Amino acid sequence: MDTGWMANGNCRVEPPSTFFPSDGTGVIIAQRICESCPVKAPCLEYALANRIEHGVWGGASERQRRRLLKKRRIDATAANALDVAAA
Ligand code: SF4
Repeated sequence: MDTGWMANGNCRVEPPSTFFPSDGTGVIIAQRICESCPVKAPCLEYALANRIEHGVWGGASERQRRRLLKKRRIDATAANALDVAAA
């Protein structure tokens, strides 16, 4: 998977620990940095594809990424069911 986008992230000038916060306030601080990041989308997809459980990636907290993965699984299952029904 391409990781060239990492060199353009807003976090490149921040301490890595900022993106592995221990509380909700830390998550909000990291998310504010991610907000204007030019590589937010590939960062989030990278974390989702690699099932990265810890830290803030692509502006999404650990919980938000879990929810997103769950929603995608449900959507994929529904789409498959529709395909089967249409066949
Ligand atoms: S979205 Fe956030 S964690 Fe990802 S590269 Fe940008 S600043 Fe870093």
